[in-house]
Amino acid sequence: MIRFDVLTLFPDMFSAVLGDSIIKRAEEKGLVSFNFIDIRDYTKNKHRKVDDYPYSGGGGMLMSAQPIYDAYQSIVKDLDYKPLTIYMSPQGKVFNQKMAVDLSKYEHIVILCGHYEGIDHRVLDMIVDMEISIGDFVLTGGEIPAMAVIDSISRMIPGVLASESSYENESHFSGLLEYPQYTRPEEFMGVKIPDVLISGHHARVDEWKREQSLKNTYLKRPDLLEKAELSKKDIEYLEKLKNADLD
Ligand code: SAM
Repeated sequence: MIRFDVLTLFPDMFSAVLGDSIIKRAEEKGLVSFNFIDIRDYTKNKHRKVDDYPYSGGGGMLMSAQPIYDAYQSIVKDLDYKPLTIYMSPQGKVFNQKMAVDLSKYEHIVILCGHYEGIDHRVLDMIVDMEISIGDFVLTGGEIPAMAVIDSISRMIPGVLASESSYENESHFSGLLEYPQYTRPEEFMGVKIPDVLISGHHARVDEWKREQSLKNTYLKRPDLLEKAELSKKDIEYLEKLKNADLD
């Protein structure tokens, strides 16, 4: 069971993504729980204003420290531990599958979503344990990154997917991309599925899957092969692919 508390200016955005399908069922089964906290509820001014001009000048506004600090206190005030607190930020460590697996071991995660030009740095220093980015580009807010990270962590929690094999073969789990997959019918617009898949020969199917994974990775993301765990047989297969390229 993992509890997510999300600090955001736009709590309503989350239900569209996390209120459906697999993640919704995970919540119903008690495997994850969500609490979306509207930072605006913690403002102390009568216009519920959450932003202000940056001292450094330049265009844009910054989210003020006080409402975020108070919203965060509303989560932690009665806890005898500090939940892992993540700030979604283009300056953070770029998220990957290994981080999803590692973070799925936590019981309580707080996620802070920024908006406008970002957040007064003092409150980040006070509450944030790690910054996570979803890639080297800039979005208008941390909500979409937070949803991506929550979705990806949640599906690593035992019981959320139908079986662990659902994700163990998936792209990035073992450092390779997944093999191509097919469903019925056996023939679509004259194109048949690979014969091996209906051969009933499990060892050959496994070998085919591994080779197709290697081939996919070699063609689409060769950079991943440098870090992947490869057997002697895998290396021989990759050599064959490289030599075929040269021919
Ligand atoms: N001025 C900030 C900078 O240069 O680092 C960017 C602010 S961005 C316009 C507004 C908010 O969107 C950020 O506070 C962050 O929460 C979120 N955000 C934008 N891009 C992101 C990314 N690639 N990954 C995670 N969060 C991101």
